[in-house]
Amino acid sequence: MNRVALITGSTSGIGKSIAIAFAQAGYDIMFHGLEANGQQIADEIGEKYKVKTGFSNANLMDQQAIGDLIDFAEKTFGKIDVLINNAGIQYVSKVEEFPLEKWNNIIAVNLNSVFVASRAAWPGMKKNGFGRIINVSSVHGIRASEYKSAYVSAKHGVIGLTKVLGLEGAGDNITCNAICPGYVKTPLVEGQIKDQAKAHGLSEEEVVKKVMLKKQAVKEFIPEKKIAELALFLAAEDASAITGSAYVLDGGWSAQ
Ligand code: NAD
Repeated sequence: MNRVALITGSTSGIGKSIAIAFAQAGYDIMFHGLEANGQQIADEIGEKYKVKTGFSNANLMDQQAIGDLIDFAEKTFGKIDVLINNAGIQYVSKVEEFPLEKWNNIIAVNLNSVFVASRAAWPGMKKNGFGRIINVSSVHGIRASEYKSAYVSAKHGVIGLTKVLGLEGAGDNITCNAICPGYVKTPLVEGQIKDQAKAHGLSEEEVVKKVMLKKQAVKEFIPEKKIAELALFLAAEDASAITGSAYVLDGGWSAQ
């Protein structure tokens, strides 16, 4: 019997790497994201790994659209076994200048959507006696950095929610865990490298070593593939006792 994974934000960056790893492992995949070539990505990966795929560009700022996304996945595949709440956005600003709209958007996408999607997928998982919810938080879910008030708040919130869902799912074979990466070189971070280079008057290489990876003991980006491998481990049938936890892949950042 095929397992089905819905991965938000899977037409870019970390989510796409997770989707590829799950397709390679034989999962059917509901792709999701705002990238214009999302359908093409879903078709190509489905063809390559011989699994069924679908695609949705539901806007996670719209809570009705999140409900529709869950319905669409359940109608397309008959069920959702694994929900990976991965989509996320970032904005960097001093607190007194932080635009309220940016705060609201970050909380909507990075925190509220995790709750709304999990809530909507929950009855199906309960009925099937199987569910794996994996939330992509961040090292910023356990540590703070200046100028990231909304992102750090949302990512800490995701870890709190993960704990509650872990408790509530016990007994129904629904687990919920979070993954907390350090810096991963995705489009989200490439934008930040360019901005920081301008702001600090440094080259992009200097920004990576001196600014971005300053807090990581290992001065390398976290490989997307390692995050995907951890997600596969957490999604496994025999991972039923692993729940309510946050797994850190941060190059030693939080060891200090
Ligand atoms: P990315 O920008 O490459 O991908 C983000 C995805 O989310 C895209 O598919 C985008 O379309 C989707 N998305 C954004 N806003 C959306 C909206 N309103 N509605 C629907 N979809 C939306 O970013 P990434 O670096 O791969 O980040 C993925 C997750 O990993 C995020 O939650 C991010 O916070 C987290 N994370 C990233 C890093 C890093 O260094 N890149 C580190 C720790 C955690």
